[in-house]
Amino acid sequence: MSKTQTILKTERRRSREIFARAERVLVGGVNSPVRAFRSVGGEPLVIDRAGGQFLYDADGNELLDYVCSWGAILLGHSNPAIADAIADQARRGTSFGVTTELELELATLITQAIPFLEKIRFVSSGTEATMSAVRLARGVTKRDFIVKFEGCYHGHADSFLSQAGSGLATLGIAECPGVPQALAGLTLNVPYNDPEAVEKVFATHKGKIAAVIVEPIAANMGVVLPESGFLKGLREITQRDGALLIVDEVITGFRLRNGSAQELLGIEGDLTTLGKIIGGGVPVAAYGGRAEWMNHVAPLGPVYQAGTLAGNPLAMRAGIAALGQLTKPGLYEEMTRLAERLVRGLRAESERAEIAAQINAIGSLATVFFTTGPVRNYADAKRSDTERYARFFREMLARGVFFAPSQFEAAFLSAAHTSENIDRTLAAAHEALQVMAAAEPAV
Ligand SMILES: *Cc1c(COP(=O)(O)O)cnc(C)c1O
Repeated sequence: MSKTQTILKTERRRSREIFARAERVLVGGVNSPVRAFRSVGGEPLVIDRAGGQFLYDADGNELLDYVCSWGAILLGHSNPAIADAIADQARRGTSFGVTTELELELATLITQAIPFLEKIRFVSSGTEATMSAVRLARGVTKRDFIVKFEGCYHGHADSFLSQAGSGLATLGIAECPGVPQALAGLTLNVPYNDPEAVEKVFATHKGKIAAVIVEPIAANMGVVLPESGFLKGLREITQRDGALLIVDEVITGFRLRNGSAQELLGIEGDLTTLGKIIGGGVPVAAYGGRAEWMNHVAPLGPVYQAGTLAGNPLAMRAGIAALGQLTKPGLYEEMTRLAERLVRGLRAESERAEIAAQINAIGSLATVFFTTGPVRNYADAKRSDTERYARFFREMLARGVFFAPSQFEAAFLSAAHTSENIDRTLAAAHEALQVMAAAEPAV
């Protein structure tokens, strides 16, 4: 047995037993499809607890975590300040159904970090945020069509489920049954990084498009960076036609800096959606923008949107405790430094094993695509060898390193990851890729 393999108790008996029972009462044994590991094979994980950069499964195995709750965990698991805030609030009450000062406090932290958000509304999931932002855009423009990009994921609302990334890409679901044709027909899909395709769709639907919704850095078909001019092009086209630009920052918000990716990329959407990180690992999301638009939301305007547990004090305390730590000097720089080392190492190891891999990365986000050419849109991403990814995933997991159980997701670093963790990951990747190379002819 080689030096990093395998600290996993290969039986994972208790995990398997729990999952088998879960499959009887939970659909597929999960509450979100990619957790079932269908595209990578192997036994789904059953996690018992987590701390820092590690997950511990029901059999007591320690896993170095690069999923980080799909990006929600930026500061590491069971972060002490967040845990204390949640425990304290649980004793003071978890939901009052009316306004608290805590909502003001979290809203203030967010609007200070993203100054062009004048007003925001808290909801409980990213799906709610994007769905509500689209409703608002339709409400203010009095138009019905929306434009989205192939391979982007904006949650599971009806309008977003065609040619979508994330779990739909993983499971190969191009169109989702249950979405009325009349509604699906109002979503116009165009390729990412293709402003000409956007021009074209605006020309054929002149004055009828309510909004363009985009991930400023795509992270749900794997990581795909916006090319120079793409986002600025969207800003210009939408402004010219009177459509709104919705920038979906559910992943990117507070991921690359203490604020939006928009500021980094030099654009400003009309509406912005946030989620994941702003809840510190508890369900919180938000949408916001200029008061000019947000004042159309009820009770100020007629665009209705509500939530029983929206802005609940437990969630707000977790969010406040999380965002309160993001001003720490060097926090983002250190995550980027480690991620860059990981990416360089993975490139070197794939070359050494003569396994074609394309690695897209920015900040603490990265994806290893098993393909030859550059990946700049969904069509490129889909050319990846997903069987090879599955093999890589299983070999890494056997060595105690948990990457996303899908080719079409990002790897996330947290502030808890260390230089030693990167060394260990690269040692595991070296072995994994060598094992893979030995098992198949090189390309
Ligand atoms: C995760 C995600 C969503 C959906 O958020 P949920 O909380 O899972 O509903 C929306 N948009 C983007 C970009 C996401 O990554």
